[in-house]
Amino acid sequence: MNRREFGAAVAGGLLSSPFAGSLGRLSGVFGLTAPRVDGARLNRHLTELSRFGANPQGGVTRLAYSDADKQAREYVLGLMRDAKLTPTIDAAGNIIASRPGRDAGRKPILFGSHIDSVPEGGNYDGNVGSMSAIEVAQTLAEQGITTRHPLQVVIWQNEEGGLYGSRAVSGQLTPEELQNVSRSGKTIAEGITFLGGDLQRLASARRAKGDIAGYLELHIEQGGTLERDHIDIGIVEGIVGIKQWEVTVTGFANHAGTTPMDQRHDALLAAARFVEAVNRIVTSVPGRQVGTVGRIQALPGAPNVIPGQVVCTLELRDLDAAKIDTLYAGITAEATRIGRQNGTTFAFRMLHENVPAPSDSRMRGLIAAAARDLSLTSRVMPSGAGHDAQAMATLAPMGMIFVPSVAGISHAPKEFSKPADIVNGANVLLLALLRFDESPRS
Ligand SMILES: [Zn+2]
Repeated sequence: MNRREFGAAVAGGLLSSPFAGSLGRLSGVFGLTAPRVDGARLNRHLTELSRFGANPQGGVTRLAYSDADKQAREYVLGLMRDAKLTPTIDAAGNIIASRPGRDAGRKPILFGSHIDSVPEGGNYDGNVGSMSAIEVAQTLAEQGITTRHPLQVVIWQNEEGGLYGSRAVSGQLTPEELQNVSRSGKTIAEGITFLGGDLQRLASARRAKGDIAGYLELHIEQGGTLERDHIDIGIVEGIVGIKQWEVTVTGFANHAGTTPMDQRHDALLAAARFVEAVNRIVTSVPGRQVGTVGRIQALPGAPNVIPGQVVCTLELRDLDAAKIDTLYAGITAEATRIGRQNGTTFAFRMLHENVPAPSDSRMRGLIAAAARDLSLTSRVMPSGAGHDAQAMATLAPMGMIFVPSVAGISHAPKEFSKPADIVNGANVLLLALLRFDESPRS
């Protein structure tokens, strides 16, 4: 049996596979059936994890570097040991749990997610991928399967604050950012020490391109399209790029009673036209790009004063950085035109940029094949939210699997994914991992 056939048999369910005649040879490696995770155990672990930082609304507030975060990590370390993994904490405070492969000379395959949350978050964001990664490792241990590559289950620290753990590993974290204050009140530097990291050896957490064979992450969709269209599995095409600007509109503050309508330089009126223009320009071309004015403040902010200044934000997201730039050019040109109409000016200052992170096309193919093997429907889609996988995409072939979020609710206590959907996602993770491990070019 060549490798390709071998991979197909691994993921195809051996009893129904056309290679069932080779059962004798394969059964020594995989047992009589292709492996499946223990879905009941996986969902039990998710429920147990939700105790740490539980809030009265039914979700969790498990801010990175809080006591709840630390206690949840202790719980995770216990699960990892039960799964016969060897966990360590790297210098950046990430939990990295290893499992040897058959060929120690190969680079490791990493898979995992995060367990920190936003304030008043839900029980699924990050947790589904984290518990599933451990469940996959435990399944491999119980079935006596040893992969070619060494495996590392990773729980990244402080994803929600800005991908701090994964960016430390990819080398994107700057020394200045260590002084940023996280939502727990601790600086990033204090947080890393609190979690058991080592600031003096921070560089040792870094990995170079080629140090990792591949990276896989399972996550909830956090949007509502999979549920709406009755699709079981999302195959992430890439994580969208994000650009944010602060927009200052300057007019002239004056008396709201004595200034005639045709002599006003009303900054808020110009800003209102700007908000409408952003929506119009972003929707004027086909595609899944999104544009948002999410914050706005009028100054001086009195009922009887014409607003002299408005400060608002503009955010654009798309998988294609060039498209973001084209939209931005259209929006700034329109802003100039709006300003001319009533004697106001627009100034744009870039606040933040995340470059788009495409997933690996071969990883997408393996995830699609794994879903097919399980008779699950799948769809290729962008991720509108940021993930640790985008940092890993700079180092290695990256693949990301989504499961449906009920009603598309996330970062809220009502966040929910059905237990059966979570089990599907974990099985796709397991089979995609095995397929990648056996693929000739991994
Ligand atoms: Zn997340």
